[in-house]
Amino acid sequence: MVKLTFYGGVREIGGNKILLEDDKGKLFLDFGYPYSKYRTFYEEYLKPRAGAGLLDLLVMGLLPHLEGIYRTDLEMENLWQQFRRAEHYRKLEDIDGILLTHAHLDHSGHISFLREDIPVYATATTAFIAKAIQDSGKADFDQQVCYFTPRVEECLKGWKQGAYVASSSSDRQRRFGVADKSGLSEEARNFWERATRQKKLASQPLNDVSKCSFKLRCFPVDHSIPGACAWGIETSSGWVVYSGDLRLHGKRGKLTEAFIKEAAQLHPKVLILEGTNVDKATNVSEQEVYENGFKAINDARGLVIADFSARDVHRLLTFLQIAKDTKRKLAILPKDAYLLKTMHLLEPEIPDLTEEDSLVIYQETTAARSPASWLRDIYQEYSSKIVLAKDVRSDQGDFILCFSFWDLNELPSIQPRAGSLYVFSSSEPHNEEQEMDFRRLHHWLEHFELRAFGLPIERNGEWEIPEEEKGLHASGHACGPDLLRVASEIRPEVLIPVHSEKPEFYVDNLSDSGISIILPTEGGTVEP
Ligand SMILES: [Zn+2]
Repeated sequence: MVKLTFYGGVREIGGNKILLEDDKGKLFLDFGYPYSKYRTFYEEYLKPRAGAGLLDLLVMGLLPHLEGIYRTDLEMENLWQQFRRAEHYRKLEDIDGILLTHAHLDHSGHISFLREDIPVYATATTAFIAKAIQDSGKADFDQQVCYFTPRVEECLKGWKQGAYVASSSSDRQRRFGVADKSGLSEEARNFWERATRQKKLASQPLNDVSKCSFKLRCFPVDHSIPGACAWGIETSSGWVVYSGDLRLHGKRGKLTEAFIKEAAQLHPKVLILEGTNVDKATNVSEQEVYENGFKAINDARGLVIADFSARDVHRLLTFLQIAKDTKRKLAILPKDAYLLKTMHLLEPEIPDLTEEDSLVIYQETTAARSPASWLRDIYQEYSSKIVLAKDVRSDQGDFILCFSFWDLNELPSIQPRAGSLYVFSSSEPHNEEQEMDFRRLHHWLEHFELRAFGLPIERNGEWEIPEEEKGLHASGHACGPDLLRVASEIRPEVLIPVHSEKPEFYVDNLSDSGISIILPTEGGTVEP
């Protein structure tokens, strides 16, 4: 009999960590970073201490109390003694693998802490995006998904107590097995095996999914990041299907349609389904984002700043098209260029940077004497595409600049003219910290006298986009009616909602459908 235990993604959006156990073995379905649990205790300047290894995460309940699955270089002696009486403590060995659905950190982030000999199965695009994000990111110890710096317990001279410090040995890559691409180009292999920081990388060749002891199906689906998939796992109780995050209304919605058909043919015992947008009745399409964005930008004089996630490559392409149609150039950040270049290695339909005349790269001000090698490579490879703050400053009407809130500190160098436009094409604030960031964003706009379009404003404590400026963001998640369609067409015996703040939605709407719905509890086991 298959058993499913939910260590994350229960009444929260993200942080999915689902343990599947059967006589064939044990798998985790995603192993994500639980943003909302983190925010309960931590913020940007108050973080779990890397020097304390796993201790902070275990004591604060951010990692499940499962002895045997975590990196031993982060485990102090006798660490587990204090957790053996904890409610959901278990000794767990012989994990056959992690089935990763996509490269958003709320699904992948905590893979950082898992033993490196546990293989991660994903699509090649997901593996590559995860590496590109890590290469070009902050290298925090809790976001080392593809490779990590081993830590050693060391007592500094004169200190009375040891701590976990980054060792001088090479970074170690995890074992990844890909579910789709078999023959990778040499360029793609080089990317996978290349170190991009100061340290050497002890790389592991990409395997394939056939190494897993379970019979698996990997279904590509559409989501706001390329490479997303759903998984099917054949168990002794029948097929278990796990949706990951998905939508039907995006540019690759056909993939999700095909997934629904093929998953239905498996007559699954269980469907574990996301429910991020259960309370949304409709979707905005990417075409509407284009139309609304075009209207706003076509009338604009002076600089345009567009705020969206460049990991959502279809949004980037939407704004690239708007740039072409309004005779501007789209200026992206080096990390976005790196990501685009990486995606192009595997997905030829994603444009080649060198062939896109309307795409340029904005060189940020840096204080580092020796920037990471990925960054130097980007500046060298695309040297003819580099624009500087002074170029943008002198020809403001020629650019759409892809900046988010976190890049606004470049504005003192650019000094946008009064009346320039800030187009917001992302999701609304979800928590107090984000609300504070939105207040700061409004202050930046006031300071430089920029006009906002599509930006949520605060009215009586509620943040909302003005009615006439809506329709600039196509969500990565299906709306309520679409999710009900996914569930009723796949028709599992049992539906288990995850990744949702309102899982009751499925109980309320599918009570007469013949599908039984089980709401999971944190740390609880379902035996369907
Ligand atoms: Zn996602």
